[in-house]
Amino acid sequence: TGCTKEKTLITDSAYMLGTYLQISIWTEDQQKGKEVIAECFRRIQEIEQNMSVNIEDSEVTKINKNAGIEQVAVSNDTAFVLGKAKEYAALTKGAYDPSIGPLVKLWGIETDHERVPEKNEIDEALKYVNYNAIQIQDENKIKLADRGMFIDLGGIAKGYAADEVANILRKRGIQHAMVNLGGNVYALGNKIDGDDWKVGIQNPYEPTGTHMGIVEINNMTVVSSGNYERYFMKGDIRYHHIIDPKTGYPAENGVISTVIISNSSIDADALSTGIYVLGLEKGMELIENINDVECIIITEDKGVYLSSGMEGKLKISNDTFYLAN
Ligand code: FAD
Ligand code: MG
Ligand code: MG
Repeated sequence: TGCTKEKTLITDSAYMLGTYLQISIWTEDQQKGKEVIAECFRRIQEIEQNMSVNIEDSEVTKINKNAGIEQVAVSNDTAFVLGKAKEYAALTKGAYDPSIGPLVKLWGIETDHERVPEKNEIDEALKYVNYNAIQIQDENKIKLADRGMFIDLGGIAKGYAADEVANILRKRGIQHAMVNLGGNVYALGNKIDGDDWKVGIQNPYEPTGTHMGIVEINNMTVVSSGNYERYFMKGDIRYHHIIDPKTGYPAENGVISTVIISNSSIDADALSTGIYVLGLEKGMELIENINDVECIIITEDKGVYLSSGMEGKLKISNDTFYLAN
């Protein structure tokens, strides 16, 4: 009614990166809003084309095919993500390791060849898991030192995509947006009514979309790793997709879910996977030593552990979970 147009919601979804993506923005210009969202999805597609191990001619596939043979020149995108991946591999002492590929292939979680491998197969694959043997030369030339190595950016590239989407939205003047890349959430700005965004934390024991609690944030990302997302059952044992690079088996340390809250989604993605493998004590210690990064760690007995900056900031909505610290 007045001179200023009201902001309204525009939302769109897509299936990329092997997962369901949703981008919601609030803007007064519907046409521009649609274009901005389309630009975001094109950017995600570009990232997938560069970094997917399921695409025959992606840069990461080229790097893997040339393992032990020669270096491959890649885009700034792929070089940046690999650089970050190595940085977080070092920081987590190899708990997060982008060279985990031979083990991911061997277990084949949620593929047509998923199975529990023989011990000797695991030992063989473990020989090629070593992030220090990912060589980055002249900034964007990548070489895997040994034949048999295979990099997998599944634990970090969705985070990078979320950061890139947030950057596009900011550049295009969007002030309020909610981005969800398969559980990798980025809340841009605040809500149009001025309140913080409410982000649900997945209940690891219930179907996707069922929450155990809520955090209120603005201009932050919430990134989770869990044993409930991708797994297969054999007998009573759940074999899930987060592999401990030291043992070659799915990480089993009592943790069933880790959530990182920070302002960088790429960092949060690598860290959520890394602290899942590190477990409660070492994982919490690492997060306490990084500024402006907070976490929630959930154990199999439904204990909920918060980093010091999260105290009082998680509203538990399902009282079978208990605050443990
Ligand atoms: P996270 O904890 O963030 O990551 C776990 C994933 O990282 C595992 O699935 C594995 O790939 C890898 N990983 C396991 N252990 C470790 C470890 N210790 N250190 C480092 N990494 C580890 N899925 C499909 O089904 N089909 C596709 O075509 C497909 N294409 C994709 C393309 C891209 C570019 C990306 C980023 C992902 C794609 N995915 C695809 C999804 C991918 O396979 C993973 O399942 C997904 O990224 C897991 O993310 P998460 O956030 O659930 O778990
Ligand atoms: Mg991750
Ligand atoms: Mg992730």
